[in-house]
Amino acid sequence: MAYCKWFKSLSKSSIPEAGGKGANLAEMWNSGFPVPPGFVVLADTYRTFLRVRKIDKKIEEKLKDLDVEDNEKLQKVAQEVQDLIMSSSMPVDMQDEIKELYSYIDAAEDLKSVKTAQALLQVTSRDPAFVAVRSSATAEDLPGASFAGQQATFVNTLGKEALVSNVQKCWASLFLSRAIYYRVKNNFPHMKVAIAVVVQKQINSDASGVMFTVNPATNDLNQVVIEAIYGLGEAVVSGEVNPNTYILDKKTGNMISKDIPGQTFLLTRDAYTGQTIKRNVNKDRQEKQVMTEQQIKTLWKLAISVENHYGVPQDMEWAMEKNQIYLVQTRPVTTLKQKIEDKLESKVEPILKGLGASPGHAAGTVKIVSDVNELDKVQKGDILVTAMTNPDYVPAMQRAVAIVTDEGGITAHAAIVSREMGVPCVVGTKSATKILKDGDEITVDGTAGLVYKGKMEMAEVKPSAPAVTEKTAIKVKVIMDLPAFAQRAADTGADGIGLLRLEGIIASGKIHPAKYLRDNRLQDYENLIYEGVKAIATPFKDKPVWVRTSDIRTDEYRELEGGEEEPKEANPMIGWHAIRRSLDQPELLKSEFRALKRLVDEGFNNLGVMLPFVISPDEIVRAKMIAEEVGLKPRTDIKFGVMVETPAAALIIEGLCEVGIDFISIGSNDLTQTILGVDRGNSNIASLYSEFHPAVIKAIEHVIKMCKKFGVESSICGQAGSDPRMAKILARFGIDSISANVDAVQTVREVVAQTE
Ligand code: PEP
Ligand code: MG
Repeated sequence: MAYCKWFKSLSKSSIPEAGGKGANLAEMWNSGFPVPPGFVVLADTYRTFLRVRKIDKKIEEKLKDLDVEDNEKLQKVAQEVQDLIMSSSMPVDMQDEIKELYSYIDAAEDLKSVKTAQALLQVTSRDPAFVAVRSSATAEDLPGASFAGQQATFVNTLGKEALVSNVQKCWASLFLSRAIYYRVKNNFPHMKVAIAVVVQKQINSDASGVMFTVNPATNDLNQVVIEAIYGLGEAVVSGEVNPNTYILDKKTGNMISKDIPGQTFLLTRDAYTGQTIKRNVNKDRQEKQVMTEQQIKTLWKLAISVENHYGVPQDMEWAMEKNQIYLVQTRPVTTLKQKIEDKLESKVEPILKGLGASPGHAAGTVKIVSDVNELDKVQKGDILVTAMTNPDYVPAMQRAVAIVTDEGGITAHAAIVSREMGVPCVVGTKSATKILKDGDEITVDGTAGLVYKGKMEMAEVKPSAPAVTEKTAIKVKVIMDLPAFAQRAADTGADGIGLLRLEGIIASGKIHPAKYLRDNRLQDYENLIYEGVKAIATPFKDKPVWVRTSDIRTDEYRELEGGEEEPKEANPMIGWHAIRRSLDQPELLKSEFRALKRLVDEGFNNLGVMLPFVISPDEIVRAKMIAEEVGLKPRTDIKFGVMVETPAAALIIEGLCEVGIDFISIGSNDLTQTILGVDRGNSNIASLYSEFHPAVIKAIEHVIKMCKKFGVESSICGQAGSDPRMAKILARFGIDSISANVDAVQTVREVVAQTE
């Protein structure tokens, strides 16, 4: 049985198993807020412990007929019960599970079946995390909110044995004298209460503070107030340190006023003892503003999205470690009762929910597009609503201020494209085209995946200004589809392009590749590819640019001229596409190689080419021969690589390396789909689709390790590379480069720098 669950596997309705605190943290985690990772030792685990150790009856016996007004007696019995719990050893399988999850706390995922994840294991066991261990009462069982005395907390817990012992102490804290007293007075049976325990990674704050999405001093709902100090937050509580205060305009994030009283010392956690110690703040920082303008903006955005999520003003605690901001706690601002109630009354419920595929908000007029002929309906400033966004919709997507679809997941090509363009996008709403009508005014929240009726005012979250930070040993590259956005991507300072898809370029030509072939217009096809790749590669002139040969599924490009003749396949995701099709239609592949050869001849010595959806060495050999036929010398003129997108490729990676390749790139979108057998575009099973599944992680680790052995460069170009948690795991596995969406380059770079 499961004794513990990651936040990710719980939700706000998990109070019975995870307690109030656990359920709330899970809700924050699953809403995408930057909560420190953690898991919950479930309430049932406590019950099982009592049962297996046969102490439930004994406890009941001791508490029976206890006169709680007899304080001496109460203290004595309370102590006896606590001793009973502490002296019974926790069953070994229970201990093992807690220890196992603890060792993976950075990954915040169930990786326990990854027996070969040596790298990850080594790092985690060498570098155990400080965690906070907190009781999380299943308080809904009890009338009245206060659950007196049962909120035992152990901060600075380090190491597996200490963790197990502190979990047990939380259980024992159910029998503190005041808790016993409280239950008796409220007529609540002792044995009906259970307790869950939250284990959460502790942030060693370089700075920390609180923030409110309302000015608590004036009740002004149009302001956000942020307080910040260097080091741990306790310093403020003790009253010894006065925080910086920043008051911002809620809508724009503009600074209205700030107060910087100066700070001479800070509290921090000693890395070895875990004790909180005092340190002097460096002289040159004492009078300085604690948070940079950029960090304040980040906090503001976070505050706004938390308030939008909960719908009422929030009072939050935050912490920052190594420039990464975490949300430690959030609760409604209760002193503003009337105002909150007013706001709740006027709070608008979303009319559609889907997956947030590209962040940001926008309001506009709905234009429903049922097929490609209707794309002209979409004018500048409209919202494109369609069953399924296809790459041939790109020109209209470019005019739209937001995009909403019925179907699709966050790795659908068009979702990826909207991120590249910076257009807010919600996919997989199931019914947008039915519920919305042409001409409706709506507001799209691409961050939360929600659509509201009418034009709503929302804090505008503009992508932060491109900033290049530290260079990392692991290269952080970008994914590209559209020539028009190449400069925007280059401005991130990315270390090159890890995946240049040809499909966006092909769709811009409006003709299906098969049609060029049928009509003998291969020169036009070659020119189209040549122009498109050149436009994208030019701003990346001195950095590696890896172009993927075409990967066109039969259902995705039917709207292009000639696309109606495409075969109808039952399973296009695993059908006639990618290298298997290119080898069946070598003239098209030749045209693509010819286009690349022209660029090489023009001096582009930074190009690579990779083959998608490979399942055998034979495919590589044949593709190389075709390249040579058109005069493009693999590995001499151009780096030659393959994508690892199938279990086959992962399992025979040595065989692929032996054929002679320069690099591999993990296409985690397809690899996850093919390993799990979960259609990446099917919103009904979107919750099953996870790149963090142990089987996927295991495959990725194996591939990276084998590539190291063969001296083949390893990389990733699926959506997972944009997830900081995955970037961290990949960095530990020793990957050579990571490709991210343009909006994620900066974050991934920071995570990689930290991990390095
Ligand atoms: C992938 O499968 O991870 C990938 C990058 O290719 P695509 O998303 O184009 O299938
Ligand atoms: Mg793929």
